[in-house]
Amino acid sequence: MKRRTGQDRSITSTWKPATQAIRGGTARSEWGETSEALFLTSGYAYDCAGDAAARFAGEQQGMTYSRLQNPTVEMLEQRIALLEGAEACRTTASGMAAMTAALLCQLQAGDHLVGGRAAFGSCRWLTDTLLPKFGIATTVVDARDPQAFVDAVRPETKVFFFETPANPTMDVVDLQAVCDIARERGITTVVDNAFATPALQRPMEFGADVVAYSATKMMDGQGRVLAGAICGTQDWIDNTLLPFTRNTGPTLSAFNAWVVLKGLETLDLRIRRQSENSVRVGTFLQGRVARVNHPGLASHPQHDLAMRQMDAAGPIFSLEVDGGRAQAHALLDALELVDISNNIGDSRSLMTHPASTTHAGVSEETRAEMGIGEGMLRLNVGLEDADDVIADLDQALRRAGL
Ligand SMILES: *Cc1c(COP(=O)(O)O)cnc(C)c1O
Repeated sequence: MKRRTGQDRSITSTWKPATQAIRGGTARSEWGETSEALFLTSGYAYDCAGDAAARFAGEQQGMTYSRLQNPTVEMLEQRIALLEGAEACRTTASGMAAMTAALLCQLQAGDHLVGGRAAFGSCRWLTDTLLPKFGIATTVVDARDPQAFVDAVRPETKVFFFETPANPTMDVVDLQAVCDIARERGITTVVDNAFATPALQRPMEFGADVVAYSATKMMDGQGRVLAGAICGTQDWIDNTLLPFTRNTGPTLSAFNAWVVLKGLETLDLRIRRQSENSVRVGTFLQGRVARVNHPGLASHPQHDLAMRQMDAAGPIFSLEVDGGRAQAHALLDALELVDISNNIGDSRSLMTHPASTTHAGVSEETRAEMGIGEGMLRLNVGLEDADDVIADLDQALRRAGL
């Protein structure tokens, strides 16, 4: 049988990730199109009223409404699940919709969550502001230290939530150690894997229960659409996540799903080349600035751990200048090739000042505790020739007095 519908996992699950990224989940229509079809439809028609009733009763296979299912979205979900090595995946309208759904679907008043201190600004808002508002207690810890999780656990702890590498300090969490601590205590781990993607790091291989994504970043990879994804066991997705998402509706649009499907086809190539470029740019910056936080460089205190759990370090790292916000802004303003932009995972090189952009909503004390100083800059190294990026940084550094 040449026509692969993608419904049958037994056909596709033996492929390696780079193959899954291109072919996993493909379900061809009667036309046999090579590139995945874009199904822009909010509803579905039934041959008879009995079919509609049977589908709503779950007795007949088929789709009922695009908040719940869509053929293009389903192809993306299967592709990500296959890439991740997860039993199931559901996508969402953005990475934050994924994080919010992954947490709220399983927590209730009286529960407790332990979160990583260094995190994307909005993820910290979830742990610091949203969850406590609904009676869910939270503790943030230095996630580089597995013992910090042990010390924070309470009888009512239900979830560990962290990202690795973390935005923008590039703290690395020991996935095996922290997932083991959670497993022993019946705690669910939710790992935000946006920086690495399944092309470089598959947290479930280390015992993670739920892996959530901003697919806006490396998965789209070309700065076009917002998207999110949540991977877990079939049972967790069906019985814990779906009741929440089906009824609250953080659904991904079919168009955006289609764009991410196209993005995934080049994920492996892009992330490996961008990782190489990023190491070259990071190596250049070492010695020129006060500090470079790059898990792919031997100078990173957790370099060995990062390289044990990741295939490559990814495109993103941070650097610190001694002259505070004024010098960091001067460096940004002197850039000619690299864009001043707070996005990441793009094929373009982008740089931002976290303290005044992505983490401006986090209090100054919290920023200091997270290790985000006024002189920190975050760089996403794109697919341009690394020599051009280095030349641009060189001239900008000189103009900023470095
Ligand atoms: C960007 C990002 C998010 C949020 O994703 P959106 O798609 O922007 O909603 C969450 N976590 C991390 C680590 C991110 O980089």
